[in-house]
Order: sequence, then structure tokens, then C-alpha cells
Amino acid sequence: MPNPSLLILPGDGIGPEVMAEVRKVIDWYGAKRDLAFDVSEDLVGGAAYDAHGTPLTDATMAKAQEADAVLLGAVGGPKYDVLDFSVKPERGLLRLRKEMDLFANLRPAQCFDALADFSSLKKDVVAGLDIMIVRELTSGIYFGEPRGIIEEGNERVGINTQRYTESEIDRVARSAFELAMRRGKKLCSMEKANVMESGVLWREVVTEVGKDYPEVELSHMYADAGAMQLCRWPKQFDVIVTDNLFGDLLSDAAAMLTGSLGMLPSASLGKPMANGRPKALYEPVHGSAPDIAGQGKANPIACILSFAMALRYSFDCGDEATRLEDAVEKVLADGFRTADLLGEEGVDPVSTSQMGDAVVAALDASL
Ligand code: NAD
Repeated sequence: MPNPSLLILPGDGIGPEVMAEVRKVIDWYGAKRDLAFDVSEDLVGGAAYDAHGTPLTDATMAKAQEADAVLLGAVGGPKYDVLDFSVKPERGLLRLRKEMDLFANLRPAQCFDALADFSSLKKDVVAGLDIMIVRELTSGIYFGEPRGIIEEGNERVGINTQRYTESEIDRVARSAFELAMRRGKKLCSMEKANVMESGVLWREVVTEVGKDYPEVELSHMYADAGAMQLCRWPKQFDVIVTDNLFGDLLSDAAAMLTGSLGMLPSASLGKPMANGRPKALYEPVHGSAPDIAGQGKANPIACILSFAMALRYSFDCGDEATRLEDAVEKVLADGFRTADLLGEEGVDPVSTSQMGDAVVAALDASL
């Protein structure tokens, strides 16, 4: 059996810095767990524009389509702000998401005990929190037609259309149920069926799909009530599934329950490929952080945890993913902090590479 293939796209700003730490972790799995990957690396975003005049070449796009998983750092930076919209770094990322048809965006909100004080909520509300938001990523109001700004009488009207087909709802609902089966077997679907027809259809289709997953306890909540519940008592949830627009807001709010941007991984999954693995792109939630790029200050944990998600969702190595998450937990419990995680008196920050080394040492200690 050939090794699974992993395409690495470090991108811009802190992207290459945090990805260098992930490479240490990948090498560790090859050396110590007999889990080797065929890793190739390529350019995306501003780095690709500088080299090729486009934020993603066709050749890189083809590699991404063929890889068992893609791991991306971050794209963008002030240097590229003047570029035409069509070649801005972000277009490279959007092209990947669109052409790989990544319709399910998985955003975990997990609170590591050592960082519970970082949340703006009370410690007992967030300590031990471990929820997953599944956001529909390729349809809904961000894509629906008609859209635009038109003249009507003597004023302008802005128009966007919320539109969901049954099959678009069905496939993301299935992803969420499958996920719930691997976790706490609880799924809450959020929409606005009280005021939106698309929400009525969403609720009907999710309920129908739920019949194929009798072990999963399905509930429904209006998205506004869901937002309140997320802030009031987030631990009541396990997996949440919702549409593109509500998911955009709810996943950002949920993520912030847990503290720093430097800690948050994500996965975007599409249809299964011929080998049964879903098309998949893993990336930290944060951007290229130009304010700290090149200074060794970036926190690599979001990117490392994105690789943990790849182990779990692309490579069926849930135990190894847990090993890596436990290693991160141990490093934090031992007091290692990059500058973004500082808050306590008398703690000196570690650098990006010291944090990566600490995670590798914790992996070693796990054997
Ligand atoms: P950002 O996430 O890059 O940074 C926001 C703040 O968080 C900054 O102060 C930054 O220093 C800090 N931060 C982010 N990641 C960190 C990490 N790993 N460790 C420590 N601190 C971290 O968002 P921004 O400043 O709004 O955007 C900067 C650039 O990134 C822009 O060009 C934007 O378009 C791009 N961007 C890209 C992505 C992506 O690639 N997915 C996402 C968001 C923004």
C-alpha cells in the first residue's frame, strides 16, 4: 500500500513558520509510529502570485484534487492589498474550496483546561468544553441568485438570495450525523424555520436524514436561540449543523468561547473520493498575521491541531489524533505559552519553534 499523500501549502506571513512545526510532528509520526506520508509542498496565495502571477496555479490545483488531504497555513498580507480582486491571495483559497467542492466546514470549539481563564465567559461555563460546529460552506445566501444592487424607483436595493436544494441539505446533514456517530451521538440543527422557508425545508430534510441514524439524538433550535444557548451553557451541545450564513456567525462565536485565534483548527470536507476518503482541506482559522510574521512569535498549535483533524477525518487514525491533542494539552498544562497565550504574571513566552519542539517532546513522552 502506498503511503497516504499530503499536500502542504504553507502560504504567506506566519503560514510557513507554523507549518515548519507541523512538519516536525509529521516526521515524528513517520519515525515513531510507522505512519509515513508522501508529503509534497507547493505555493498558494501571495507566495504563488510572486512566483507565478496567480494565487493558485492549475498544476497546484490538480495536485490538491489528487492528494488524500491538503494542509494549508494562511494566505494574504498588506503587500497584496493593491492587487486586482481576481489575483488576490484569498482567491487561491476560495478556488481550492470551490473546485474541491468542500461543502462541510468543521469548526471545533474545545477548551483546554490550562487556558480556561482565557475565555470571556466564566471558567465553569467553558472548562472541558468540546463541541463541533458543522457549517454548510458552498451554498446558501453567499452564493444564491439573484444577487446584486439594483435601482428601484429613486433608490438602490441590495439583494441576496437564501437558496438550498434538498440534496445540498442532505449531504451536509449526513456529514454532521456521521460526525455525531463518532462523538457524543447528539446533533442539534439550527435554522430559522419560524420565519424562512429555506429553514422549514432544512428542518424537514435533516429530520428525514436522521431516520438513517437512529442512535443519534437529534434536536432543532432556532439559530438566534442557539446563539444565546452557546453563550449561556455551551456544554449542552455536541455537534451543531447549520447553514452557511448562521454557521459563519455561530462558529466564530463558539470559537471565541475558548480563547486565542492561535489555537483554532478547522477542516473542510467534500464528497468521498474513489478510495473512500473525503476530499479534504485542513487549515488553522487564523490568517497570515503580518503584524508578527517573521518574528518567531506565532503560535503553531492551530496548525498542529489541524493536522490532528487530518489524522482523524482523512486517515482514520483517531487514536493518533487523540495522542496529538493530548500532547498539546500536556504542553499547555506544563506552562508552555507563546506570546498570544500570555496572561499570567512571571511567565516568559516560548517561540514558535520551541512550542513545536515541546509538542514533539510530549509525543515522545506518550510512548
Ligand atoms: P489574522 O488572523 O491574521 O490576525 C489577527 C490577530 O491575531 C493578529 O494580531 C495576529 O497577530 C493574531 N494571530 C493570528 N494568528 C496567530 C497565531 N497563530 N499566533 C499568534 N497570534 C496570532 O487576521 P487579520 O489580521 O485580520 O488578517 C491578516 C491577513 O490574513 C489578511 O491579509 C487577511 O486577508 C488574511 N486572512 C487569511 C485567512 C486564511 O488564510 N484563511 C484568514 C483570515 C485572514
